[in-house]
Amino acid sequence: MNTKVEFKPAKKTPFVADRQSDLSDQERVDAALNQFLRDTDFVTATYMESCIHCGLCAEVCHFYEQTGDPKYTPIWKLEPLKRAYKRESGPFSFIYKALNLKRKLTADELAQWQHLLYDSCTVCGRCSMVCPMGIDIASLISKARHGMFQAGLVPEELWTMAKKAQDEGSPLGVTAEVLQDAIQRMEKEYAVKIPLDKDQADILVSISSLEILNYTRTLADMARVMNHLGYSWTLRSDGFEASNPGLLAGGEAWQRASSKRLVDAAIACKARIVVIPECGHGYNAFRWQAANLYGKPLPFRIMHITELMAEGIRNNKLRVNRVNESVTFHDPCQVSRRGGATEAPRTVLTALGVDLHEMPAAGDLNWCCGGGGGVFDIQRADKLRYRSFRIKMEQVNQSGADKLYTSCSNCRQTFDDCAEHFDWDKHPNSLLELVADNLAPI
Ligand code: SF4
Ligand code: SF4
Repeated sequence: MNTKVEFKPAKKTPFVADRQSDLSDQERVDAALNQFLRDTDFVTATYMESCIHCGLCAEVCHFYEQTGDPKYTPIWKLEPLKRAYKRESGPFSFIYKALNLKRKLTADELAQWQHLLYDSCTVCGRCSMVCPMGIDIASLISKARHGMFQAGLVPEELWTMAKKAQDEGSPLGVTAEVLQDAIQRMEKEYAVKIPLDKDQADILVSISSLEILNYTRTLADMARVMNHLGYSWTLRSDGFEASNPGLLAGGEAWQRASSKRLVDAAIACKARIVVIPECGHGYNAFRWQAANLYGKPLPFRIMHITELMAEGIRNNKLRVNRVNESVTFHDPCQVSRRGGATEAPRTVLTALGVDLHEMPAAGDLNWCCGGGGGVFDIQRADKLRYRSFRIKMEQVNQSGADKLYTSCSNCRQTFDDCAEHFDWDKHPNSLLELVADNLAPI
């Protein structure tokens, strides 16, 4: 019997971009181009002129690293933005245009770029860290997404969540009533007081819809830590959502509207500090971008919950019991590398007395979980995301730790999903939860 099996290479499925609105092809190109050029300020123009094509950014991007496919080279993902700049507004644009050295973008090219600007970039900023020319590729990816948003070329899942957040204040349908129900449940289950809608409080605490719906005890854990710290604090039903899908989709006006709800709620209760929960991109959107979008300095500090806990430990307000665990910590890109809060979780873990096993690349150079920047929500990106997650699994395994902790609910969601996909025994735990479970009597 002939047992030879004929090998047939798998057929490549053509990429089909999602489209919103009924703009014509030409209108999409014009909308993207206009936005690209509006976003091209002095800094962006300098970045566009600075690349020396060394390729270092490719080697540190998890999507390139796992596939070896040159199209995943970080700086290449910015080609539409670069081409628009060079052809339309750069110092030699007249030559580029006259000799057609940089072709005009087409609607089809833009649509194809949806895969590179969304599905295969978590905006983790690892490429920005290593670029010898200091090009902040991740921030340029976000700018390029602005153009895609204007052109109505956003992955449908991100568009839908961003629109829902814009229309209803939450990407997942968490209304003020849903929040109140969740608070009542947590108060009962954990015997903890969760203040809502106070007129005056030193601290406004925010929470993400993902935490309210999926990681439900986060509300109680936040309250237990805040009450232990002894602060006057509140949640507000007119501004509680920490996540900001407008940022992920590239809708700047929607991003601004989400931030403004939190800003207005903080001003309404005269808060001195706004605390962002374990939500990486929410922290980036509010800590580093809200004031610019608001147009003036904000009259309060913004802290990630991990920073607040670390500060509490430093000034002796937060007392924790020692925990006999061997742990490793996954740095969420938007909190550590992009957010600057790399030491804070280590201060907390040291106070807890755990046996900390750092991963081979930890802290500011950590490898991304692969699900940030909205990638987790884009279903067609699952295959690529799982592939890139192999790096993370290897790193966690190499640490030799028994338990894994992190401080971003989106990272947790990605780890949970990948653990199930790979039948891997490591599920991430929340650092906030670890602290809340080990508060020492004052
Ligand atoms: S930001 Fe992260 S995912 Fe995006 S291109 Fe850079 S390294 Fe890759
Ligand atoms: S690391 Fe910087 S200079 Fe080198 S190819 Fe990438 S963007 Fe260009």
